[in-house]
This record gives sequence, structure tokens and C-alpha cells, in this order.
Amino acid sequence: MQIIFFGGTFDPIHLGHLAIAKRVVERFPFSRVLFAPSYIPPHKNFTSLSSFQDRFRMTELAISGMENLEVSAIEHEREKSSYTLDTLRILRERFPGKTISFLIGSDSLMQLHSWHECASLVREFPVIVYPRSGVHPEREELRKFWPEEETEKLLSVVLKDVPLFPVSSTSIKAMYRSGQGSEAEKFLPESVAAYIREKGLYRPETQV
Ligand code: ATP
Repeated sequence: MQIIFFGGTFDPIHLGHLAIAKRVVERFPFSRVLFAPSYIPPHKNFTSLSSFQDRFRMTELAISGMENLEVSAIEHEREKSSYTLDTLRILRERFPGKTISFLIGSDSLMQLHSWHECASLVREFPVIVYPRSGVHPEREELRKFWPEEETEKLLSVVLKDVPLFPVSSTSIKAMYRSGQGSEAEKFLPESVAAYIREKGLYRPETQV
């Protein structure tokens, strides 16, 4: 059994996240994807971030009833921002005998060199990269930051022959904030759209 850690802000979780996770569990037999909303994301400007509780609840609603998809509050457990490497090490201790890997989009792959102790991260844990529209990982670009061996390894784990899902949380929030909520809802599971309406998240008057 492989546990595939899928960290993100999930503000909000969208149909792209779900589609990616489903493709990945199909591709890797005996795997489950663990969605882990970040507490305070170390790589993002989080001033306009929705609360952990809202992002966690939306993730729960989105994956409800879906086989082999789970949500974890592990990033909130220590009441402080945690690095992916630390979280994965905790999961490894918690699930002895299971392979712990992590899933990122190809945009995140191009930033991976800036993650905390990135060399240990890719040495200790297998990474799975899902391609994202407009981001084609280039060898020359990766070589600026990674030694040759790691570069080849990272390129080899980009999934091939999978559909792209051109959607992002940023564009969804922008649609809400410009009063195009019904357009934004096309990219969300219905349960998440209903939660956003109920809680009044991403209102046009809310400043980014
Ligand atoms: P933002 O617009 O704020 O960057 P996002 O849509 O990328 O948000 P995150 O919660 O930051 O959402 O993403 C979590 C992970 O999912 C990241 O590794 C990201 O690369 C990946 N991801 C998100 N959306 C896609 C997508 N449409 N295709 C491929 N990977 C994606």
C-alpha cells in the first residue's frame, strides 16, 4: 500500500485537484491519496488565505464518498507551519512498512528546488508529478537547480499520457471576486460551491 501525500492550500479545492488524485490512484495500484491542506503555507503569501477550518471542510466535502481519497489535518497538528519533509517523516513513522510518496503539479516541480531541504526530500521520498497546462518541465531549467541525477529522476516521474486540467484556485477566486460566482462554480464540486455560498467566502467586496 502506497500513501500519496497531496499537500496544498486548497483555497478552494477544485475539480482539477480531484481529477488529478483520481488519475493517480488509478495509475498506482493499492494507493490512496491523502489530501493535506496546509496550515500556513511556507511558499505562499497567505495574507488572504481562507481559514484552515474552511479549507479543511471544503476538502472533506469534495472527496466525500470517493474511494481511496482521504483528508488529513496533519499540517495543523503542531499549530505551526511545517515543511513537507517534516510531515512526510511523521507519516513514515506513523505508517511503518508503507511507501510514503508525494504528489505535486508540474508548476510546483519547477519550484521544488526552493523547498526546505529539497535534496533530502527527493532522496527520501518518491515524488509523482502531474503535468499542468502551460508548464512543461524542461531539462535545462531543472539543471539550473538540480544535479544531473536528480534532474533525470524528476523528469522521469512526470506522468505521461494523462489529461490536463486547466484550472487553478487563483482563477476561481478571481471569478468570485469579480462577481462571476456562477462561472467559478463550474470548476468546483457542488458541495464545495454550496459551502462557499453558505459561508460567503471569496465575496466580491473581500480584498485580495
Ligand atoms: P493557486 O492558484 O493558488 O496556485 P492551485 O490551483 O495551484 O492554487 P494548490 O492548492 O496550491 O492549488 O495546489 C496543490 C497542488 O496541486 C500543487 O502541487 C499544484 O501544483 C497542484 N495542482 C493544482 N491544480 C492543478 C492542475 N490544474 N493541474 C496540475 N496540478 C495542479
